Amino acid sequence: MHSVDRIGRYRLERRLGTGAFGTVWLAHDDDLDAPVAVKVLAENWAHRLDVRERFLSEARLLRKAGSPRVVQVHDIGELPDGRPYFVMEYADAGTLADLLAAGPLPVAEALRLTALAARSAHALHEAGIVHRDVKPSNVLLRTAPDGTRRVLLADLGLAKSLAQASGLTLAAGSEGYRPPEQAEPGVGIDARADVYSLGAVGYELVTGAVPAAPGKAVPPERLRPDVDPGAARALMRALEPDRERRWPTAEALAEELESCAAAESAARRPRGRRVRDVGRRRGRWGRGAGRPRGRRGRAVALGAAVAAVAAAGVGLGMALWPGTPKTSAASGVRVADATGRVAVRVPDGWGRQLRDSGWDPATLGLPAGHEPGLAVAEDLTHWQDLGARVDGVFVGLSEHGDVTARVTAVEHSGCHYDGDRAYGAGSWHGLVRAWSGCPGGGLLTEAALVPAGAAGQPQVYVQVRRQGGDDPTDRVLRSLEVTRTR
Ligand code: ATP
Ligand code: MG
Repeated sequence: MHSVDRIGRYRLERRLGTGAFGTVWLAHDDDLDAPVAVKVLAENWAHRLDVRERFLSEARLLRKAGSPRVVQVHDIGELPDGRPYFVMEYADAGTLADLLAAGPLPVAEALRLTALAARSAHALHEAGIVHRDVKPSNVLLRTAPDGTRRVLLADLGLAKSLAQASGLTLAAGSEGYRPPEQAEPGVGIDARADVYSLGAVGYELVTGAVPAAPGKAVPPERLRPDVDPGAARALMRALEPDRERRWPTAEALAEELESCAAAESAARRPRGRRVRDVGRRRGRWGRGAGRPRGRRGRAVALGAAVAAVAAAGVGLGMALWPGTPKTSAASGVRVADATGRVAVRVPDGWGRQLRDSGWDPATLGLPAGHEPGLAVAEDLTHWQDLGARVDGVFVGLSEHGDVTARVTAVEHSGCHYDGDRAYGAGSWHGLVRAWSGCPGGGLLTEAALVPAGAAGQPQVYVQVRRQGGDDPTDRVLRSLEVTRTR
């Protein structure tokens, strides 16, 4: 891999993420003195002419859309080694996937964001483009000069113009957000394919779970009892396997969700717990979002972060295991994250729901990124809420930063701090901190683990929430399996 620190006049600052085709960098445009995002096609794809063409057509289609609701492309070019790249506006507030790292959103906010994403999709449709890969990581958030946030649709890597899409198409899109017609070669795709994906995004923002296969999604109110039936129906209509029964346009879906959101906000305003929830969320939109700032900021951000971090799966791949967990001679259930790099064994009854898609260490005040992690509990819906009775475990890997220092700084307001102790077994050592008498009567232990050798990284953050009984923390920690990348 060539290391590059500059692409043309753009100075690379840090990697924002890596997707199926390439890597996106935060860079600085020295001439305009402005941040930009640069997407570079991965080396292993650069020699494939069809992929190169698809990559560049993404940039051209984004440009063609020319809408403030769609990410703007400023420039296009080629590295000396032949890899193509394009330069786009930088979404400073992350993506919906980053937001989901802290679990489901307050309902009104979830509906409003989905409505904005639907309006973005509608702008594309008006330009004759079907996106075909609407999913949380492709919905970007950008702070406007007046402090409000804009929602931008990005990543048309698989998009085709409506004209092209009427013929033979390949299965495209992303699992969980893909409408059934997109998985069938030869079926023409139209704007209603994006309506389905938008429904899936809204469903995930509300419930924290990606909907099951088309036609099999559990009604959202079963996962999030406080969602209004009208909003639940609107999402389920978007998710209709038969596109004739879906909302006919993304605009119609946006309008319905906007009115549901307005009704939801009006109905909720006076209630205590929700207001606190919304307050936390609002805090995350500020500058330095997601990082505790100052003592008070830390208590809020991390009080929720037990929570926040614990529920930190990016929401993909919530698996339900009704009654048939993978038990074995060793007691408990072994669960692993989606990358397979982290696995842990939890008490039998706890292994019913799994969120396996990783976390953003920024929730703990560490450098932002997307790292392997999982949350497992009998019921993950209430994992965020220290007032709820929950038994479960969160494990998050961190390749950078000092997890021990961050864990030591955590305060869980409403819980009683019982002190810390050293932990050491097998290939891990570290610190365990204990809390009791949390608002729901529960107990909480948190561990910061460092590999016993000289490596120092990756470090691991573990949370165990329980209602009482034996403390399984040490058993859970001893069962930890982590695969190093190199
Ligand atoms: P896939 O390849 O399946 O679409 P992806 O959307 O995560 O997955 P990319 O589109 O390559 O992959 O983007 C990688 C990450 O970079 C995104 O998840 C997002 O966090 C970040 N990103 C992409 N574009 C921007 C942008 N314009 N501004 C800020 N961050 C961005
Ligand atoms: Mg993307």
